[in-house]
Amino acid sequence: MLNSCKKYLDEKHFCPHCKEQLSCCSTPPIHVGDGLGWGTEAYFVCLNDECPLFKKGWEHIEMQFGHRASYRYMLLPGNTEGTPMMVGSKDAFKGCVIDPQGIKLQDERYAKEKEAVAKLDTCVAEKNLEPVLFLILDEAADRKNRERAADLITELNDLACVDPLRNHEFRDDNLAHRVNLAIKKILEANFKKECPDCAEIIKAQAKKCQHCGKGF
Ligand SMILES: [Zn+2]
Ligand SMILES: [Zn+2]
Repeated sequence: MLNSCKKYLDEKHFCPHCKEQLSCCSTPPIHVGDGLGWGTEAYFVCLNDECPLFKKGWEHIEMQFGHRASYRYMLLPGNTEGTPMMVGSKDAFKGCVIDPQGIKLQDERYAKEKEAVAKLDTCVAEKNLEPVLFLILDEAADRKNRERAADLITELNDLACVDPLRNHEFRDDNLAHRVNLAIKKILEANFKKECPDCAEIIKAQAKKCQHCGKGF
């Protein structure tokens, strides 16, 4: 669910001067210009260098005010009409372009993480491995949440976690170590081991792997 202050992520606007789609930019942390009153975390701006408003602006401002600047067409979220905004260089505002799709994906991922964290309290009682696996395997999730999930593996004692965890490449060595220890514990608790050759889970006392035929 998108939070209401991020409605702008779904907005699409076009420049009336050049018809190009406006770029979504994050608001600078400091107040720019006078009387603009940002009051928004993003705005839309035409960053097309061929835009007639921008191209003609240089000459216009030079003649009117005698300094080097031009205009970019700018529009605040939730509006249909924008206004020319003075810029001192071609690159102004280009550094704060944001990708609405990327932010939406980040928000969605974060919502899923929160949902999984909320389920951790009851996952052992419900024998629900899913939120635990989700958090451990999500490299973008908070480290503390992932560690908490890793510590629940032993209590959950579900061998179904071994394959997905083994197939995951952990970027965090500490977490990888925690997960390894947990896997070792549940294999032992279930009198199982992993075949050193094919990695399938087999009986701890097996003299021969039933999957690859390797003898020990
Ligand atoms: Zn334009
Ligand atoms: Zn094997």
